[in-house]
Amino acid sequence: ARRPFIAGNWKMNLDHLQSIAFVQKLAWSLKDAKHDFGKVEAAIFPPFTDLRSVQTLIDADKLDLELGAQDLSDNDSGAYTGDISGAFLARLDVKYVIVGHSERRTIHGETDEVVGAKVAAAHRHGLVPVLCVGETAEDLEKHGPSAVPVAQLRAALTTLPAGAEIVVAYEPVWAIGSGQAATPDQAEQVCAALRDALVEIAGADSAAATRILYGGSVKANNIASFLREPNVDGALVGGASLDITEFASIVRYQN
Ligand code: 13P
Repeated sequence: ARRPFIAGNWKMNLDHLQSIAFVQKLAWSLKDAKHDFGKVEAAIFPPFTDLRSVQTLIDADKLDLELGAQDLSDNDSGAYTGDISGAFLARLDVKYVIVGHSERRTIHGETDEVVGAKVAAAHRHGLVPVLCVGETAEDLEKHGPSAVPVAQLRAALTTLPAGAEIVVAYEPVWAIGSGQAATPDQAEQVCAALRDALVEIAGADSAAATRILYGGSVKANNIASFLREPNVDGALVGGASLDITEFASIVRYQN
């Protein structure tokens, strides 16, 4: 069985001082509620400048929260001003890294080719990529529900090296930050199509073990309906991950 995964993508919010207070309170809240991380894994994805502070806190307080970054370079080192190497992230005990978020694709012009190179870079450094795919409203109208996300997956992931873990996140662009989440049925349909594609890319065992998340206006009041779907294994949460009570409730959707 796949362990459900709740991931909080902070985007460009909370500086390193704010991140310390936030993570302490979130950890207390989950501890008070006796959250069983063995049943539902939880990770946060703060900005780069917060990672060292949050790592220190997780380490000192032995928190079960996992740490992720929001992006990485496809290169390992060198003359790439402003970029961050996966090697640096690995040194900070970062476990996960978001790759190909729609905001990177649109604002920074990341192509499927770049996204694929970033997936490979993550694996070179022992990080687990959280590969984001998703269609715009226009894509949906033109091509139907699964065509664009599946094409993005195939373009970024031509092969999966044996033993390399990946998480896939289906985030319809029209559902991000809009308050208009996909329906659980819509999410299931695309996540099932993504899993079928993974069977061809990585084999049946890998595909069965890979967690596929839904993202886009996930809140405490709709999370459980997504997790009831057989091919939805968790959520990538944006706005609602910045509210401690709301995010803790999402992590604890089973209760
Ligand atoms: P919202 O949860 O704010 O819609 O954002 C989703 C997202 O982009 C997470 O990566």
